[in-house]
Amino acid sequence: WEDPVGFIGLGNMGGHMARNLLSKNFKVIVYDALPNNMKILEKSGAQSASSPAEVASQTKTLVTMLPAGQHVREAYTGDKGLLSAVRSGSLLLDSSTIEPATSQEMEKLAAEKGAIYMDAPVSGGVVAARDALLTFMVGGSEKYFEQAKSLLLNMGKNVVHCGPVGTGQAAKVCNNMLLGITMIGTAETMNLGIRLGLDAKLLAKILNMSSGRCWSSELYNPCPGVIENIPSSNNYEGGFGVTLMTKDLGLAQTAATATKAAIPLGSLAHQLYRIMSGTPLACKDFASVYEFLQEMDAK
Ligand code: NAD
Repeated sequence: WEDPVGFIGLGNMGGHMARNLLSKNFKVIVYDALPNNMKILEKSGAQSASSPAEVASQTKTLVTMLPAGQHVREAYTGDKGLLSAVRSGSLLLDSSTIEPATSQEMEKLAAEKGAIYMDAPVSGGVVAARDALLTFMVGGSEKYFEQAKSLLLNMGKNVVHCGPVGTGQAAKVCNNMLLGITMIGTAETMNLGIRLGLDAKLLAKILNMSSGRCWSSELYNPCPGVIENIPSSNNYEGGFGVTLMTKDLGLAQTAATATKAAIPLGSLAHQLYRIMSGTPLACKDFASVYEFLQEMDAK
């Protein structure tokens, strides 16, 4: 891979992903709206650019990892957006979790410039991003999938083709609705068990050898101190923000309305995270729903 790779969006996820490319000897040109996030990557060998357009003018492979649809739109079509300078034949991979309609719109605009767009949202969280163990759900032309996969495998271990542009986002929204629900369920369960006098670590151990086991109980337990080196044991810092989970559950809600699917628990999870978004927990990891429930406990 001789051409440099462009990387836009160096937050909790993108920072690790770009660093993994650097550690595998890719030349990486980065851009983030926060200059400090670029400075951190420069220390690992990245070259910074002053805008998405400047990144696009220097590479034919670009990855974006931005919070929501509006940020992707801005990075693609805004003033000095990447589409203003994209080179024909470029491969544009968007790993942000956004509404499928925005992905489809970006694909159309990219095609007008002769570029190939694919949605490639990820699952796995910050630890998987750090350890290059992400799962990528890819929507886009099958013709370019292998090319995309060969790059994405440097940041993850599973790369799955889902169908045309937008289907990666569809798979991601389904996964995150389930994640939002199981995280609340795990937090409720841990809170109840501790109130019943059980030791938190013992309860987690039993859940994880029983039928209640899930990713939230096993790898991302929301109760502080149960698992070291994850956000719940670090004052819910870093990780996957409450506002991002609220966004994803909102995407699920919109999708369910459009398809007439019944999602009663997904809707309830959305409302709980929406309420949390109006509290100081808004800037914390989504596992802080554990703390939120404790605040709601009868005194
Ligand atoms: P984040 O908020 O930590 O990082 C986003 C970065 O984008 C920030 O550094 C911000 O400065 C930058 N940014 C915002 N607008 C920009 C613009 N117009 N141009 C350039 N940079 C801009 O978010 P994150 O946790 O890294 O998540 C990124 C995406 O990945 C989201 O869509 C999220 O839903 C998804 N995701 C996150 C996780 C997780 O565990 N954090 C897991 C899977 C998927």
